[in-house]
Amino acid sequence: MKGQINVSVENIFPLIKKFLYSDHEIFLRELISNATDATLKMKHLCQIGEAKVDYGDPKIEIKIDKEAKTLHVIDEGIGMTAEEVKKYINEVAFSGAEEFLDKYKDKLEGSGIIGHFGLGFYSSFMVADKVEIHTKSYKDEDAAHWTCDGSPEFSLVKGKRKERGTEIILHISEDETEFLEDSRIGELLQKYNKFMPVPIKFGTREDTLPLAEDAAEDAKPETITADNIINNPEPAWTKQPTDLKEEDYTAFYRELYPMQFEEPLFSIHLNVDYPFNLTGILYFPKLSNDMNVQKDRIQLYQNQVFITDNVENIVPEFLTMLRGVIDSPDIPLNVSRSYLQADSNVKKISAYITRKVADKLKSLFTSNREDFEKKWNDIKIVIEYGMLSEEKFFEKSDAFALYPDVDGNYHTYDELYNKIKAKQTDKDDKLVILYASDRDEQHSYITAAKDKGYEVLLLDSPIVSHLIQKLETTKENISFARVDADHIDNLIKKEDETISKLSEDEKSKLDELLKDVVPSEKFIVQLEAMDSQAAPFIITQPEFMRRMKEMQQTGGGMFGMGNMPEMFNLVVNTNHDLVHQILNTKTRKKQERLINQSLDLARLSQGLLKGEELTNFIKRSYNMIK
Ligand code: ADP
Repeated sequence: MKGQINVSVENIFPLIKKFLYSDHEIFLRELISNATDATLKMKHLCQIGEAKVDYGDPKIEIKIDKEAKTLHVIDEGIGMTAEEVKKYINEVAFSGAEEFLDKYKDKLEGSGIIGHFGLGFYSSFMVADKVEIHTKSYKDEDAAHWTCDGSPEFSLVKGKRKERGTEIILHISEDETEFLEDSRIGELLQKYNKFMPVPIKFGTREDTLPLAEDAAEDAKPETITADNIINNPEPAWTKQPTDLKEEDYTAFYRELYPMQFEEPLFSIHLNVDYPFNLTGILYFPKLSNDMNVQKDRIQLYQNQVFITDNVENIVPEFLTMLRGVIDSPDIPLNVSRSYLQADSNVKKISAYITRKVADKLKSLFTSNREDFEKKWNDIKIVIEYGMLSEEKFFEKSDAFALYPDVDGNYHTYDELYNKIKAKQTDKDDKLVILYASDRDEQHSYITAAKDKGYEVLLLDSPIVSHLIQKLETTKENISFARVDADHIDNLIKKEDETISKLSEDEKSKLDELLKDVVPSEKFIVQLEAMDSQAAPFIITQPEFMRRMKEMQQTGGGMFGMGNMPEMFNLVVNTNHDLVHQILNTKTRKKQERLINQSLDLARLSQGLLKGEELTNFIKRSYNMIK
């Protein structure tokens, strides 16, 4: 029979081609999805006893005929009767495509849409001038042969197909010949169909059989020709967590990312079916301190069909640094990204993933703390970023977030709090948490703090200033101070003020002298009566300024701070003997020499003495000891 497909859009195919230009390749995924559905329907009908046929061991075959310029997708599924072809292909599929285009015509231009369009069967016209369907239903009626050349006219005649199932033949258009290349089709199968639930055959493969133990020396290994099955129909995430061992998770990681040589640190199996359906496995990769976007990203699947590796707005942002797969039929795909963010299912999914990750971290910490501490450096970026960006995650983080000190001991927040509460509470009842960002550079400050019996944390990730800011505003009555932010006695102020050994007169003399000699564009001189054992000259960088500058460098902080020149305080200990000596030295020249030498020593301990100034310092020092 010949017929006219009943649509209002005169010629829908040019539209399809125009709008979906960049995504032509998805036709193959759509056809294989249909073939998979038809196969699984057959399986279901056999299982419930509806169909009295042998289900067998069905596969889907993809074949290229270079000479005829055709691409074939063949399945052993339920097939279609002629009536069904009329109904499902001419009406359902076509009206589906039309409806789709009507709905998304405006939105399709631009890139706001995910690469899944639900166009189904008709997407084959993106790459083919003519499409044929040879199909035979399991109901054992006559086979049907449908042909359509892209106009709304089709022909439907009795077909010759003998076996149950469907063969779709695409006559590839002149400008789409890439889809007749083995390598291109192979690449698409790898991308979209690697984990589909029905075996997919693409050509054959020579397998070499292992030689028998007692084989003769000159025996040649036997080779056999086998189907080249491109997919793993039962990927790890579709199995129950109880059926999987640690090695299975690692092996699956290899399968997902063949080019990754580093082992993942641990995995999280996602498995939920209410109020939405989601399975998947997430991996924590070894992340160093750099926050560059990873190449191997989390992959999103729907019923084992690859959709995209851009999971932005589906997975909370801090977890996009992880790897793995998530598979959920409940994520709407033919919508824009901004719409996706507002979708209630997607919100629930995102919240669920966050909770699962937090729970897993907690259980890893409680079950094997030592191991968790070892991994901390590699996972802290994700955790700290999560604490900053997801309130729910932050609330749970006290159970597993760690605060390492400069000696390599790890504390939870509560442990730290209890350990330092007595000593590090200042006269205003504020708990001061001391930290360093570099053990070597801030060595003298760390030592000064430790001499007082204080604990010093080592916080060195790039977003730590943001995290500190967050902790200060959520925890009660605490503040963080980097050890070099001021003299230690000023960082944690106690009641007993040290009495100055200098008179007011002497102080103002000293002040004048120092301001004369010390370059004022770099240092603000600050006289302090401190312990006579404390260093005479100390260079500090006020916490607030430094932190705001750091925050601005990593996004956030106070506007304009990043451009401020680097300013330091020069704290001079008026109780130190050397300072008295400077004051009492007779000649101005000698005074200057002592001041410069002391200033350089202070700079040296802050890592600030470089280049010519360092050279001069060394020269001067040799002269002094001569
Ligand atoms: P969708 O798959 O989203 O329903 P399609 O346009 O891809 O839309 O297909 C329309 C209908 O045609 C399917 O629902 C199915 O009933 C039928 N169909 C398509 N391909 C096959 C196939 N390989 N075997 C059996 N039926 C098929």
